[in-house]
Amino acid sequence: MQVEFPPPPRERVDVAIIGGSGLYDPGILEDARELKVYTPYGEPSDNIIVGRVGGKRVAFLARHGRGHRIPPHRINYRANIWALKALGARWVIAVSAVGSLREDYRPGDLVVPDQFIDMTKRRDYTFFDGHVVAHVSMADPFCEHLRRLLIDTASRLGYRVHPRGTYICIEGPRFSTRAESRIWKEVFKADIIGMTLVPEVNLACEAQMCYATLALVTDYDVWAERPVTAEEVARIMAENVEKAKKVIYELIPRLPDEPEPGLCSCCQALTTALL
Ligand SMILES: [Zn+2]
Repeated sequence: MQVEFPPPPRERVDVAIIGGSGLYDPGILEDARELKVYTPYGEPSDNIIVGRVGGKRVAFLARHGRGHRIPPHRINYRANIWALKALGARWVIAVSAVGSLREDYRPGDLVVPDQFIDMTKRRDYTFFDGHVVAHVSMADPFCEHLRRLLIDTASRLGYRVHPRGTYICIEGPRFSTRAESRIWKEVFKADIIGMTLVPEVNLACEAQMCYATLALVTDYDVWAERPVTAEEVARIMAENVEKAKKVIYELIPRLPDEPEPGLCSCCQALTTALL
């Protein structure tokens, strides 16, 4: 028994990409066309672009909508994940711009987080809103198989990539105070900070999809007391988006049809979770 997602369409996709700030159109999909997907939770952030990369069928969704219309706390995460699941996506590569909480995670670096801390306050966190009760395991929230592919692909391309990191997700849309930023860094020992990982990651788990994040460091969070100009951040973001596109383009053809059971437990999380 599980949440009743519609059966995948005949023309199902293999992999979904969720693009974060700056990544509104991957520009790497062949035969691209747009789909409007309706869900029981309302509309996803934008039309979904479907096409092909290296023989794989790919769906792309701009998390904030194209033109960055939707702030982090107003994103309809359930509609987004539902829509991608409805298209049949097995894998989800989520791209996110983040701030750094460590000196050695520099602006321009890539991070593939392995843990998160949830400091969001009021979002719709689950598809299981009653009737069926489920507590999914979040001990290892990301797909280890997909994480390894991301790390390996980014390394091969010669990018500075950190294979571990704890992502602290704050509610936003405001940034942290200095006091908060020091707590995230020194007390919670988080490594990177953003506003969009939760509940995207746990909804993907409930939908039994293999989800991993490619985090792009744009700047140091406010703890560093190192003011940067908007131009600097914009330049780093633009460079990061190019790196993310290259990683995705190289990685997608390498995706197997199914994750390796020994590396991936995310998609079985539900089998023991339903009460
Ligand atoms: Zn997995």
